[in-house]
Amino acid sequence: MENATRTDIKSLTLEELEEELASRGEKPFRARQVYQWMHVKLARGFEDMHNLPKKLREEWGTCFSYTALSAVQVQESRLDGTKKFLFELGDGNLVESVWMKYRHGNSVCISSQVGCRMGCTFCASALGGLIRNLQPSEMLDQIYAITLLTGERVSNVVVMGTGEPLDNYENLMKFIRMLTDDRGLHISQRSVTVSTCGLVPQIRRLAGEGLQITLALSLHAATDEKRKKLMPVARRYSIQELSGACRYYFENTGRRITLEYSLVGGVNDSEEDAELLSALAGPLGCHVNLIPMNPVREYSFQGPDRTRIRAFQNRLEKNKINGTIRREMGRDIDGACGQLRRRSMSDFGGNKTC
Ligand code: SAH
Repeated sequence: MENATRTDIKSLTLEELEEELASRGEKPFRARQVYQWMHVKLARGFEDMHNLPKKLREEWGTCFSYTALSAVQVQESRLDGTKKFLFELGDGNLVESVWMKYRHGNSVCISSQVGCRMGCTFCASALGGLIRNLQPSEMLDQIYAITLLTGERVSNVVVMGTGEPLDNYENLMKFIRMLTDDRGLHISQRSVTVSTCGLVPQIRRLAGEGLQITLALSLHAATDEKRKKLMPVARRYSIQELSGACRYYFENTGRRITLEYSLVGGVNDSEEDAELLSALAGPLGCHVNLIPMNPVREYSFQGPDRTRIRAFQNRLEKNKINGTIRREMGRDIDGACGQLRRRSMSDFGGNKTC
């Protein structure tokens, strides 16, 4: 974060840091040294960087801001070991991140904004609207803090927590480039997934970034009419425009898009819905991720029952659409997006951040 006097040092790429330090008369090796402290050794502040002259550390403390998250709450699932972290940012706002252990490695789900302005009618993160964007440093910090707290390497990152990542486009791009930089944590681009509610111009722009990440599109309905009931963004972009952007993304990147489809009991879970979804997903070669709706206290939507989920999946299968039911990780620990932050805000006696 850039304020009047201090530059957010952890949001600078190595090249930017080199330039910044050169303008302060530092030798080029310093930038690499500090970058490594921040992004490989995951230092929590300048005071950790013990091979740097003390005078320099003190000077930097006055001209740079150094973000680091503190965990205010950690919930661990007794069912599957999933951990949900509530972090406090430098300005007192709260964000949540989730750590999931899979056989193929550890996955972290991060937030990209404090709150969200997309207004999906079933999502806890939409309650209270958008507070602010997260800086690249604050997105990286969620992964760094979890690595330090668990003592385990993170191999997959999904940007599927609170916020609409493509509504914070520039910061997201910088975050991805720094996260996958071989001079930082060096997570493979193929192990990064970005989930969007479907901002068409940004999907087209993303297609030209030369990244190998996976894009997941929250579709949730196969007709404009139904989609508009669940997602206000559907009033801006039609499914036809979205399909066009998906095709463009695939043609430019060679990466298949995943369609996310949250099953809402009695709303979008009929076999006819499955037929319409198949007709969309088939030509695009998309994989479909079925998410049973996770009920949020403030809304009346219900999750569908098991038999309807199975019937939906069977219908996709019959149409040769690859559809998996997402394992519900951490169901016993406020699993749905934004629920932990919501609950914590009301526990603090009301709206701490809204
Ligand atoms: N803004 C992005 C990413 C954040 S939400 C997006 O819209 O994709 C991550 C996923 O969880 C989205 O597919 C979202 O629609 C879904 N989701 C949010 N609340 C949910 C709930 N209560 N139950 C099931 N899925 C939910």
